[in-house]
Amino acid sequence: MRVLEARNRTGGRIQTDTSLTGYPLELGAEFIHGEQAATHGLVRQAGLSVIAVDRLRVGLRWGVPALPLEALTAETREKIVRLRAAYARLEARPENAPDQSLADYLMAQGFDAEALGMADVLLAQTCCARLDSLSCADLAREMRADHAGPLEYRITEGYGALLDWLASGLPISVGAAVQRLTWGAAGVVAETSAGRFEAKRTVITLPAAVLAAGTVEFDPPLLASKRDALRGFRTEPATKLLYVFAERRWDADLTFMAHEGSAARWWTPNYRRSGPPVLAAYITADRARRVDALDEAEALALGLREAAELLGDATLSEHVKLAKRVSWASDPQARGGYAHVLPGMAGARPALAAPVEDVLFFAGEATAWDSNPQTVHGAIESGWRAAEEIRAVC
Ligand SMILES: Cc1cc2nc3c(=O)[nH]c(=O)nc-3n(C[C@H](O)[C@H](O)[C@H](O)COP(=O)(O)OP(=O)(O)OC[C@H]3O[C@@H](n4cnc5c(N)ncnc54)[C@H](O)[C@@H]3O)c2cc1C
Repeated sequence: MRVLEARNRTGGRIQTDTSLTGYPLELGAEFIHGEQAATHGLVRQAGLSVIAVDRLRVGLRWGVPALPLEALTAETREKIVRLRAAYARLEARPENAPDQSLADYLMAQGFDAEALGMADVLLAQTCCARLDSLSCADLAREMRADHAGPLEYRITEGYGALLDWLASGLPISVGAAVQRLTWGAAGVVAETSAGRFEAKRTVITLPAAVLAAGTVEFDPPLLASKRDALRGFRTEPATKLLYVFAERRWDADLTFMAHEGSAARWWTPNYRRSGPPVLAAYITADRARRVDALDEAEALALGLREAAELLGDATLSEHVKLAKRVSWASDPQARGGYAHVLPGMAGARPALAAPVEDVLFFAGEATAWDSNPQTVHGAIESGWRAAEEIRAVC
C-alpha cells in the first residue's frame, strides 16, 4: 500500500499552525462536529484530548453590538427559533418529494427577506454554500444519516497531532501529484510528479472540485455516471481571517458571533486555552469570493472593522499583533472549501462513491452519503467504507 499526496505535507484541508500563537491554530478544519463523531475514537487512541466548545455562547448582531441569543429582541429571537425549526423539519421530508433549494423551501414557509439573510449566515455559510444552491433533499438525507450529534469540540493538541499519529508508519509519498491514472482489470498505474506507481486497486480521495477540474487525467476517461455525479456538486470558496491580539478584548466565554457583514461568522480559537487571544472569521461562498478579491491588507482591515463593531470596541485594531488570511479557493489541491449538492442532484454523493470495476474506489468528504459530508469525520468514515468495499472483493 502507498499513499500518494500532491502537497509537501499530509492533511489536505486540515492544516494546523503553531507558529502564530504557540498553541495549535487551525487554518482549515477546526471543530469536531458532534459528540459521537468518529474522530473522538481516534483522538482517544492517539492519547489526545478535546476542548468542548459551547456554541450557545453566541453573540448575534441583529442589533449592535453582538448580543447573546437570549438578549436579542423577542422578534429577532423568535425568527431565529422559527428558522431553525423549519430547517429541522427537512428531516421529515418524504424521500421522493421533488427537490428544491433551501432558499425556495424557506420562502415557501413564509420567511421574509430578513429571515433569509439570517438563514444565509446561520445555515448556508456553514455549508459553504449559497441558500439558493443547497439541495433540500441532500440536507434531509444528511439529517437522517447524522449519528454525530450537535455538540462541538476542538482537539487540544490540534488536528495536526491527530494526523501525525494517523500517518506514523504509513508509506506516504508527499510531493507526488498524480497527473495521469491508467486503469483496467489488471490494476492501475499512477503517473505522478514523483514517478510511476502501480497497484491492483486504488482509493481516490481527491476533492470533488479537483476531480471535476480534470487535474488528473483518467485513461480510460471516468465513466459518464461519475461525470454526471460531479456535475451535481459545487465547491465555493472558504476563507479564514485570523487576528492575534496582545490582550483579550471580549468575554472569556464568548465562543461565536454572527452578523450579516462580509465576515459574517466569528469564533475564538483561544477559548479555554492559555496563550495569545485570537479572533477568527470564517467566510464562505459569495462573501469569501468578495474577501478573496481584495488584497490581503484590505481584507484584514475589513474584517477587523466588522469585529470592532460586533464587539462595540472602537480601539480593537490597536491591540492586533499579527493577522493572516487563508484562502482555500486559491489552493489548487482544494479549489475551495467543501462540496455541496445542487438542487435536483441528490443522487450525486452515492454515485460519486460507487466503486468502478473493483479497481477504482472513491472516498473523501463529498462521498460521505451515509454520514456527514463536508466534515472531517465524514471523510474518515468514507475511507473506512472504501476499505470495506476493497476487503469485500479481495
Ligand atoms: C476552511 C475550512 C474549514 C473547515 N472546518 C471544518 C470543521 O471545523 N470541522 C470539520 O469536520 N470539517 C471542516 N472542514 C471540512 C474538512 O476539512 C473536510 O471535509 C475534510 O478535511 C476533507 O477530507 P478529504 O480527505 O475528503 O479531502 P482533503 O483533506 O482535501 O484530502 C484530499 C487530498 O488529496 C490531495 N490531492 C489533491 N490533488 C492531488 C493530486 N493530483 N495527486 C495527489 N494528491 C492530490 C490533497 O493535497 C489532499 O491532501 C473545513 C474545511 C475548510 C476548507
